[in-house]
Amino acid sequence: MSILGKLTQIWSQDMAIDLGTANTLVVLKGQGVVLNEPSVVAVVDNKGKKSVLAVGDEAKTMLGRTPGNIQAIRPLRDGVIADFIVTEEMIKHFIKKVHKKNAFANPRILICVPTGSTPVERKAIQDSALAAGARKVQLIEEPIAAAIGAGLPISEATGSMVVDIGGGTTEIAVLSLGGVVHSSSLKVGGDTMDDAIVNFMRSVHKLAIGESTAERIKTDIGCAGIPDNGDGKTLTVKGRDLINGLPREVVISERQVAEALSDSLSQIITALKRALEVVPPELAADIVDKGIMLTGGGALLQRLDEAIRVTTGLPVSIADDPLTCVARGTGMALEENHNHCLLYTSPSPRD
Ligand code: ADP
Ligand code: MG
Repeated sequence: MSILGKLTQIWSQDMAIDLGTANTLVVLKGQGVVLNEPSVVAVVDNKGKKSVLAVGDEAKTMLGRTPGNIQAIRPLRDGVIADFIVTEEMIKHFIKKVHKKNAFANPRILICVPTGSTPVERKAIQDSALAAGARKVQLIEEPIAAAIGAGLPISEATGSMVVDIGGGTTEIAVLSLGGVVHSSSLKVGGDTMDDAIVNFMRSVHKLAIGESTAERIKTDIGCAGIPDNGDGKTLTVKGRDLINGLPREVVISERQVAEALSDSLSQIITALKRALEVVPPELAADIVDKGIMLTGGGALLQRLDEAIRVTTGLPVSIADDPLTCVARGTGMALEENHNHCLLYTSPSPRD
């Protein structure tokens, strides 16, 4: 390739971003996932003047451990942008971090947004990417990106059902001919499960634990079903005794965690059944044949696929590497043949 050709390639290196409630991933065309960090920003308040202290991995270690003047914020926590300024800082930080390796980059950026995001939120996300140096910003709806990443035939005249269980929300969608036929978003996801474990530890063990500890319990021994043989695996958990205020250790079992998670899971399954009830009959018939595809970190919960299979009677599959599925799908959507799936293009003065 000529030097000019190479420069043009670097200059226009396309980028895809999965802006998740728990994790943000960046994919560079031809290079795969180049950044995967928590969607967390630590903000320091200096006598009323706020500034960003850390973003991503570094900020996540601060969650629950900050002194009074520092706040670790998850700006997209519940699937809506709680804080526009912090979200913008986060997007800019991640784009710049990836840029650094490509000093000349001035990319076209494709960002995945939840189906339920408002026009104001979409515009804010787009503006942040433009402010971070994007040449052109396009958006794609999350279920479409998830389905492309999971290898579903979304452009065909056949129904596909995708359930993405993220940190803040569960997105349920039925797709056909490259579009979303039905979608619903539930404010129940990995965070709800973590909260349920925190509450369980308080009420049953009289132990206060933080969100990060609860998340570790969930990923280590969390399960969507009660173990067949007694209590299942166990885990030692450290926290603060609610009665005497001192640090204490408690041993909890897989069975107890399954009980703590059962309410969140039944909410997800109820929403899923409701979605199946309103799907047009032809597409419902396709779903009976092809089943439900699970994506997002929540898909990794042990025996969740089995629980959904049993309650719906439908085949259930888990996407390969569900935590990167949406990001990889957004990356694949950068290719020409997926142009019809993109939402709209930013009006960019440099176009
Ligand atoms: P988002 O797209 O909203 O950022 P992700 O798809 O990245 O969310 O999923 C993050 C969620 O998945 C977190 O709540 C995390 O705790 C959960 N998670 C990650 N691994 C597991 C696991 N092995 N079992 C259960 N939940 C998991
Ligand atoms: Mg996601």
